[in-house]
Amino acid sequence: MLITSLTLLISACGGEEKKAKNIIFMIGDGMGVSQTTAYRYYADDPKTPDVETTVFDELLVGTASTYPADDTVVTDSAASATALSSGIKSYNGAIGVDVDKKPVLTLLERAKQLGMTTAIVATSQINHATPASFMAHNESRRNYNEIADAYADELINDKPKADLMLGGGTDYFIRDDRNIVDEFKAFGYHYIDSLSKLNELSELPALGLFAPTGMPHAIDSDNQHRVAAMTKKSLELLDSEDNKNGFFIMIEGSQIDWCAHNNDIACSMKEMDDFAHAIKIAKEYVDRRDDTILVITADHTTGGLSLGANGDYRWEAAAVKKFSSSLNIIISDFMALPKTTTLDVVLETWVKHSTLAISEAQATTIQKALASPLKQSKLKKELVAIINSASNTGWTTGGHSAEDVQVFATGVNAHLFNGHQNNTDIAKKLFKQLQNNN
Ligand SMILES: [Zn+2]
Repeated sequence: MLITSLTLLISACGGEEKKAKNIIFMIGDGMGVSQTTAYRYYADDPKTPDVETTVFDELLVGTASTYPADDTVVTDSAASATALSSGIKSYNGAIGVDVDKKPVLTLLERAKQLGMTTAIVATSQINHATPASFMAHNESRRNYNEIADAYADELINDKPKADLMLGGGTDYFIRDDRNIVDEFKAFGYHYIDSLSKLNELSELPALGLFAPTGMPHAIDSDNQHRVAAMTKKSLELLDSEDNKNGFFIMIEGSQIDWCAHNNDIACSMKEMDDFAHAIKIAKEYVDRRDDTILVITADHTTGGLSLGANGDYRWEAAAVKKFSSSLNIIISDFMALPKTTTLDVVLETWVKHSTLAISEAQATTIQKALASPLKQSKLKKELVAIINSASNTGWTTGGHSAEDVQVFATGVNAHLFNGHQNNTDIAKKLFKQLQNNN
């Protein structure tokens, strides 16, 4: 009865369901259920008895399977991003191509064909697997230079595909053989080379490259909310008076994955915090309008993270908060010490990065690692062991795993993403929003 009246109501309104004019698509690279759960405990106010909910809890609507077209069920970022950008499953390593290495149309390209404004934001280099799968077509994610070339070479209506690109990557865009930044300037793009200059951007098109490859981890950055800052500026720029045809933006929290590959929980939580702040900014934008959809998902989960390990029933976010540097930075600081180093120097180096009190036995393991011929790998093992035992964090892999990821949505037609879906379905549902935009 209810369905019948609803159908009548829809046909009375012209038979078409309202479509979203603007699409904000956010991807937390490597952001599994364990990452969002850990973040809830990490972000919790310890002064209140309840565990406060997060923006992820507010927006959760469904799950997605992430398997690629290969004979494995574990995807990489390229195959998964290709599924999310095009609705087509491909092989691990594929950038915007199908299993026959043929280019597939992406959401960003379709949006541009329809005259929409388009943007990509990442903290990796902007030609890394996830953004690349929206922007280019290449048989391998490792062909970084070819992918960067494609950003300037593959035109739609005589213009580059993206009106706004923010992230890292000068090593690939300013090379001896080719200066792609200059080429974008010739296309009329404004260019900035530092995140601190973000406010200098006042109109599109624009390109911002803030690091040689990936940007520094949030935990090692002056501005720890860099995805949030780029999201805020992007929405300001996209929401101009010229935005008659709507916009499509893909925003990636790229380094949730990188920290998890390193089994670095403190690094991971700062990336999650940045991404959560970016989502809040996007949500506020969607909340004050009635023409935009925000969809958030992950390409896969990374690290096999567990909150609790070794039969011990506890996970301690407080210990995680005691770190102010990523493992990469802590390791490189220790690597600079001589082979023979006193315990005092070990402790002096430690306290530069963490307020976690370590035992003499733990300091001695670091001291021994310094003297080992396998210095770097030993150091990493010992440092991960220290943070894992203090927080009781478990990791089962330095790679990805095949668990489903979550899907979050709000705004116009957010209900379409309810329940379980294939990752390709997410793209297909977003393509349908685009179809009615012309
Ligand atoms: Zn990864």
